Amino acid sequence: MTQQVLTILGSTGSIGESTLDVAARHPDKFRIFALAGHKQVNKLAAQCERFKPCFAVVADAEHAAALEQLLESADCQTEVLYGGQALIEVASASEVTGVMAAIVGAAGLPSALAAAKNGKTIYLANKETLVVSGALFMETARANGAKVLPVDSEHNAVYQVLPQDYSGRLNVHGIQSIILTASGGPFLDTDLSTFDHITPAQAVKHPNWSMGQKISVDSATMMNKGLELIEAHWLFNCPPDKLEVVIHPQSVIHSMVRYLDGSVLAQMGNPDMRTPIAYCLGLPERIESGVGALDFGKLSVLTFREPDLNRFPCLKLAYDAMHAGGGASCVLNAANEEAVAAFLAGKIRFTDIARIVAHCLEQGFSDGLNDIDSLLAQDAQTRAQARQGITALSR
Ligand code: NAD
Ligand code: MG
Repeated sequence: MTQQVLTILGSTGSIGESTLDVAARHPDKFRIFALAGHKQVNKLAAQCERFKPCFAVVADAEHAAALEQLLESADCQTEVLYGGQALIEVASASEVTGVMAAIVGAAGLPSALAAAKNGKTIYLANKETLVVSGALFMETARANGAKVLPVDSEHNAVYQVLPQDYSGRLNVHGIQSIILTASGGPFLDTDLSTFDHITPAQAVKHPNWSMGQKISVDSATMMNKGLELIEAHWLFNCPPDKLEVVIHPQSVIHSMVRYLDGSVLAQMGNPDMRTPIAYCLGLPERIESGVGALDFGKLSVLTFREPDLNRFPCLKLAYDAMHAGGGASCVLNAANEEAVAAFLAGKIRFTDIARIVAHCLEQGFSDGLNDIDSLLAQDAQTRAQARQGITALSR
């Protein structure tokens, strides 16, 4: 394997740190070109000292000055850049072979799209990119020879059990459906009558996975699985009616593909994102990830059940948005991001998240949004509507 030169967007987050953990195990295979860490300058400074990237990117001039000071006192030569254009530059630079897209939210879209335009191998953790701009992103990647490798554990699992020559057409390969597994999050069995009183601290406490705050709340509402349905739709060119969701609280089977002959192929492992990350980074080889072996002696049961759409209205809203197509999933995502942020800030109740998303979807959306400017305009319009709804609810 020739040495990969990596840009890690969102290096200070949960996925970013796991990526650096895997890369550090294979210094011969990976060199870090750039790290982007938004406002987390202390963590980013420590990463720069350790991995010595050429560039580090932060949110704005103020954070750039703070990072420069830290790097100077550590005698670290990394050059500091800031702003959205800098994210695009480090994702596009000619030296870079692979880009880990691990910024959270639609904020990660322009830089991921830049990597696609420049034919990079994209390790895609940022599912919101596909939810907001699936058609545009996949077409841009295809037209520019960029490879899109799914980091999200479910999609990575599907990728691993699809035929190696998968053409993007299920029937050509005798595939009946793609089955995404879901843990069901922390409130799978919580009394529904108490949902109004769920606190942010309870919602971010996922039973199996350790993740960033936004995706943890998404897992608790099951919006995460909804976003993942849309993600799978675009990644695998899978029609909505060929996508299944099954709740599997142990998070050992990460997803499955159902074939016409009755076979179901699954990928299993401990719930640790370093496995799908190492799979993507190592391709075509398998490389060591630091994840412990799955111990069947300690696995007592694997259970499965149907998702309850009354308990998880966000999942239903995502299904509806996927079927509606057009700008619906862009609206779904923007409304959800605003609602989750408001919930985490203590402004609205847990159950209000679905209300805000439904309210925004009811406002309607443009059809055929397929360029970044109109997608970002829809995103901005929806966020304004969501904030109005949040203000009304928090009174
Ligand atoms: P996180 O909150 O831990 O990290 C987010 C990263 O993005 C941080 O580095 C942060 O500094 C940066 N960031 C935040 N806002 C930004 C902005 N406006 N502009 C630029 N950078 C910004 O999140 P995470 O859990 O690592 O998730 C990252 C992405 O990966 C999300 O899209 C999430 O859905 C996806 N994902 C995460 C997991 C997981 O296990 N954590 C699993 C599957 C997919
Ligand atoms: Mg996932």
